[in-house]
Amino acid sequence: MKTILVTGGSGLVGQGIKAVEHKYPTCKFIYVSSKDYDLSSMKDTQKMFETFQPTHVIHLAACVGGLFKNMNNKVEMLEKNLLINYNVVKCCHESDVQKLVACLSTCIFPDKTTYPINETMLHNGPPHDSNDAYAYAKRMLEIQCKAYRENFGSDFQCVIPTNIYGPHDNYHLEDAHVIPALIHKCYNAKSENVPFVMRGTGKPLRQFIYSEDLAELIIWTMEHNTEPTIILSVPEKDEVSIEYVARLIARSFNYHHNLRFDTSFSDGQFKKTADNSLLASKINYKFTPIEKGINMAVEWFINNYEIARK
Ligand code: NAP
Ligand code: GDP
Repeated sequence: MKTILVTGGSGLVGQGIKAVEHKYPTCKFIYVSSKDYDLSSMKDTQKMFETFQPTHVIHLAACVGGLFKNMNNKVEMLEKNLLINYNVVKCCHESDVQKLVACLSTCIFPDKTTYPINETMLHNGPPHDSNDAYAYAKRMLEIQCKAYRENFGSDFQCVIPTNIYGPHDNYHLEDAHVIPALIHKCYNAKSENVPFVMRGTGKPLRQFIYSEDLAELIIWTMEHNTEPTIILSVPEKDEVSIEYVARLIARSFNYHHNLRFDTSFSDGQFKKTADNSLLASKINYKFTPIEKGINMAVEWFINNYEIARK
């Protein structure tokens, strides 16, 4: 039986893994959050490994946020993430963990690049200025895993998901990623009967992945993947504009007549189109269509309004 420790277990992706774990009866999953251990502390991190003695680790814990959190909290995004990742990867080595799957993001890719972006292009140029602090901390996680592979033959892999959404997201109005932020804003707009205002022009493009799809692909990576780094994304053809997702959210709330754009806010990076052909060459995964996923995320927020992070 594998004992899989999931850091960041209370978050969007951690809860996605919890929702699908019943499909993997040969694995025992343990979920930890910052309330259990502060992974920016080496002492706490060591204590966590001593307590659970995991054979496998899915490392999700991070200081995470959308465009505006990244722009406004660069010191925290850099320092917290450097510390968390350094501690977790080092303890995986010291505790003889058999396999580590650590989480990067497509938003750490180079800004000026050719599209689609693939796994070989991660370090080919600076990231977008809006999230450079977060991006460089995450890039160091990839370098750290590579160093352990090369020096010690460790089976330390990285996954690169695109923008994620689903139940148990962080719905903070300022700090969240675009889908949860707009779900919360549309909920408020409908309650107060005022315009539903999205930020920027709505023109940027993104690939969005439903959290439980990503959870299954992360467990697949743990069980079967042999690539050091792999993009976990919907195909390029499923890339959509921010305006399209805002309209889906408004439709889901039945509040589609009152959408406005506040173009005084940044659009961030125009696109980060990721190439999922490596993944597609290994597994024929049927992704949740965004139209269905948005309905499920909106329904979750409405039904869990009192307990949702916001
Ligand atoms: P999330 O919902 O914000 O959850 C973050 C998790 O990390 C929570 O469980 C949180 O615990 C934990 N955490 C934060 N600081 C910690 C600390 N100092 N010590 C211990 N645990 C700590 O994030 P998510 O969206 O699930 O993200 C999971 C992973 O996917 C992250 O590595 C992120 O960089 C990556 N990713 C996310 C997206 C996205 O669109 N969300 C896109 C690409 C990649 P508490 O609940 O106690 O705070
Ligand atoms: P990214 O995909 O990593 O850039 O981060 P986000 O999930 O925060 O998406 C940012 C994109 O959504 C930008 O084009 C923003 O201008 C747009 N956007 C529109 N309204 C909002 C909002 O209320 N919050 C956030 N985070 N982004 C918004």
